[in-house]
Amino acid sequence: MTDTWLLKNVLFVSQGQASREDVYVTKDGLSFLGEDGLAVGIGVTPFGEGGILFPDSGASRQVNEMDAGGWMLCPSLSDMHVHFRQPGYEYKETIASGSAAAARAGYGLVAAMPNLNPVPDSPETLAIEQAIIDRDAVISVLPYAAITLGRKGLEFVDMLALRESCVAFSDDGSGVQSDEMMEKAMRMAAFCDCVIAAHCEDNRLLNGGYIHDGEYARTHGHKGICSESEWGQIARDLELAAKTGCRYHVCHISCKESVEIIRQAKKSGVKVTCETGPHYLLLSDKDLQEDGRFKMNPPIRSEADREALLSGLVDGTIDIIATDHAPHSAEEKSRGLAGSAMGIVGLETAFPLLYTHLVEGGILSLERLVEVMAEAPRRIFGLGSALDEGSYALFDLETPYAIDSTAFVSKGKATPFDGWTVKGNCLLNVHKNKIVYGTLE
Ligand SMILES: [Zn+2]
Repeated sequence: MTDTWLLKNVLFVSQGQASREDVYVTKDGLSFLGEDGLAVGIGVTPFGEGGILFPDSGASRQVNEMDAGGWMLCPSLSDMHVHFRQPGYEYKETIASGSAAAARAGYGLVAAMPNLNPVPDSPETLAIEQAIIDRDAVISVLPYAAITLGRKGLEFVDMLALRESCVAFSDDGSGVQSDEMMEKAMRMAAFCDCVIAAHCEDNRLLNGGYIHDGEYARTHGHKGICSESEWGQIARDLELAAKTGCRYHVCHISCKESVEIIRQAKKSGVKVTCETGPHYLLLSDKDLQEDGRFKMNPPIRSEADREALLSGLVDGTIDIIATDHAPHSAEEKSRGLAGSAMGIVGLETAFPLLYTHLVEGGILSLERLVEVMAEAPRRIFGLGSALDEGSYALFDLETPYAIDSTAFVSKGKATPFDGWTVKGNCLLNVHKNKIVYGTLE
């Protein structure tokens, strides 16, 4: 039986570097072929100290050599913003189905948002979610705890009691409306050295809107969500973050003003990071169709917003890509733009879409894409290195294929990218030295 593969000439991307390597993949980890023909550094980078060649090297090992010139090997991907819907909404997604979808796509770590039932807002309710994760997750699934009890924005959770059991705090799904509440939350988070991951949305400015307040909404008679509902609250929070010293992360930014105020805040030394999603980088309201697959919150905005997000990603204002993977049932997404639930799935399309359109499109380097999709999320949230824990993924960068939502592992199928032709399919995903998706057989 083959238990060792030699990937000849694979493109290895890690820590801002890309190099062609010959890499052994064994059940014990990765090792890289050094210039002397000996493997070095199991489970570490090829630039590391010499390691062990085949720890259990014995007579019967068969090496299966493969031409990997069209493939990329990198640390497994990380997504700090997914909705796995369990406990409470298992008909949309479960920890098992969501983590399997993530594994299919090359992710080794995701962070699950707390808009669940029960909301993880106490050690007891968080333990319910954690027990399901321990039982069903095939990769690392880290729960967020809520900022306020029931995500209602009225009373605080006990951050000190929760901080060891959650990745960070978020009321995702809604903004924290009260300035005073947010300031107190940030003071407590700063004291606990925890991250606040904020969904920024000022309810006073929503007026029943459900797509971007722009050209498409005006010409098609839809109610719009203005950009200020997002950036207004970010501006408030940036002041509070500066005042409190809180580690503040902004979820899913979608508009040009958000990019600019975060850029300026970073220049002035505020401890702020932020994320955007593939759909904001690749679509604008020119692409909208009368279909629930194009509806999410925040909404896909204008072409100028899209361009500003791309600039922010290139210049480092935007730190990470998060999918905001938000599955719903087919029925919930079947009621057009006005009536459908907010949210699209994203895990199984994110890397191929961004590789194809940003890297092959000449906008972003592959090293930077790996940084924002794999390495920076772990660094910002203090989660260690994927390669050090034996988590890595192999992607085919050469073979085009069409996105087919009916083949998604996720229970959710609603994506605006159905039918798009992309490259960057995940071939193999190894999590903590165990294959969780694919095979090289
Ligand atoms: Zn959100």
